[in-house]
Amino acid sequence: MGARSGKEFLQRLDGTPRELWYGDKKLTGSVSVHPAFAGIARSMAALYDMQASPELADVMTYQSQSGERVGMSFLQPHTREDLGRRRRMMKTWADYSGGMLGRTADYLNSAVMAMASAKEFFGKEGNDYAGNIQKYYEHVRDSDLLLTHTLINPQVNRAVGPSKQQDPFIAARIVEKTSEGVVIRGARMLATLPIADEILVFPSTVIRSGQDDMPYSIAFALPVSAKGLKFICRESFTSASAYDHPLASRFDEQDAVVVFDDVLVPWERVFLLEDPDKANKVNEATDAIVFMAHQATVRELAKAEFVAGLAALVAETIGADQFPNVQEKVTDLLLIAESMRAFIDSSEAGAKTNKWGLTTPDYVPINSARNLWPKLAPTMAVVLKQIGASGLMAIPPEEALGSVARPDLDRYYQSKLSAAEERIHLFKLAWDVAGSSFGGRQDLYERFFFGDPVRMASAYYAWYNKEPYKQRVKEMLGRRE
Ligand SMILES: Cc1cc2nc3c(=O)[nH]c(=O)nc-3n(C[C@H](O)[C@H](O)[C@H](O)COP(=O)(O)OP(=O)(O)OC[C@H]3O[C@@H](n4cnc5c(N)ncnc54)[C@H](O)[C@@H]3O)c2cc1C
Repeated sequence: MGARSGKEFLQRLDGTPRELWYGDKKLTGSVSVHPAFAGIARSMAALYDMQASPELADVMTYQSQSGERVGMSFLQPHTREDLGRRRRMMKTWADYSGGMLGRTADYLNSAVMAMASAKEFFGKEGNDYAGNIQKYYEHVRDSDLLLTHTLINPQVNRAVGPSKQQDPFIAARIVEKTSEGVVIRGARMLATLPIADEILVFPSTVIRSGQDDMPYSIAFALPVSAKGLKFICRESFTSASAYDHPLASRFDEQDAVVVFDDVLVPWERVFLLEDPDKANKVNEATDAIVFMAHQATVRELAKAEFVAGLAALVAETIGADQFPNVQEKVTDLLLIAESMRAFIDSSEAGAKTNKWGLTTPDYVPINSARNLWPKLAPTMAVVLKQIGASGLMAIPPEEALGSVARPDLDRYYQSKLSAAEERIHLFKLAWDVAGSSFGGRQDLYERFFFGDPVRMASAYYAWYNKEPYKQRVKEMLGRRE
């Protein structure tokens, strides 16, 4: 089949049965028209349509060995030019949402692509895990599937690991191995984008397992239609009005807790089993982490550019752009964007062929971006609030524009640069980034989507080669003249 169009994406979405719980109901009927999912379904379809657009075909797709054109994020890079092609594709998708969509398909496609290149890591003992990951990559690539994933156990008692919880069946674990596959019971949190076609269940990129965690040490993939698999969705932050909520109406990806009620994972979908040591290494050893972080940093660049542009427009609209303090705040956002760009450039310039034969971005700048972003990202909402001030609350609902109050709106809501309707729309966009439920979720997402920043920082501290710097200090201390 190869790269899908938006229509093909929507057909599969509505044609795939899934246990999607929203409020007190299990969704029945077409997901793509349900109020909580219609906006995100449309946006995802628009992204897939870019692959079908003749002007973008060379940016978005490439010809695979099968002869079909497939999504560029499946490309296994063998040159720096290939890395550049991947980056252009990822930036094109990220710009569509101003970087607001965290889980476009290229994020997990990158992980599966890298893991397949490192198939020997998965091995063949007991089961052909290496063959499974390779076949899975080809399956996802050739059918252009959209994946969601879940890496973290439920937040019941973080003081102890999954095996020491009062109920050791809270975290998803192996309960039985049969001739057909492995039976899983328990739950995982959190899976963004439950409208995906398939789910990946993998070890955390940050949290390490011990021998006690054997029944929880597993990596597999399943179609969302698997029997016993449930997605329990949070309250939706979307809106029917693209005027009132320019972002929430289109880009609320949804997040769900995933429940496995004795779900059978067929052997050919198991990639790693009862192996805490491999579980601890899989993301780094395969370089999946590097390619995921490369995609994430490109998206972060798109978001930083978009929010810097938004802040500059808000300032100019109300004539606040002349104030040095406002210029300084917009500059802070421009500096964030330029930092992300520099990290990406430097990671690509320093790319090397990894152990598995892929041209791989230099992990030092990309891991630095991964650790710095959760600290920089919250500044975006802060700056928009500082510049927008009370204007962020002068945002009457869309109906007000058609009401008898319109003459008052036209008079009192106009701005230096724009008429009332345009100015209100701009400030609603700023509020959707900085303060609405959608904006609050964005803030939380950027802080946590790649793992707990505290434990990531500890891992970075242990990993970073500090010796040359320490040596320089010692040399300085050793000088007596
Ligand atoms: C909007 C959003 C979307 C997400 N989407 C996905 C997704 O699609 N797929 C996915 O797999 N995950 C997703 N995540 C989950 C993400 O991986 C986790 O948020 C992240 O790994 C942190 O885990 P946690 O939220 O369980 O926090 P916890 O681990 O419960 O941490 C809570 C607090 O306690 C501290 N803490 C806990 N344990 C320790 C410890 N041992 N040492 C030091 N401090 C500790 C943390 O620093 C933090 O301050 C998403 C998260 C968010 C917020």
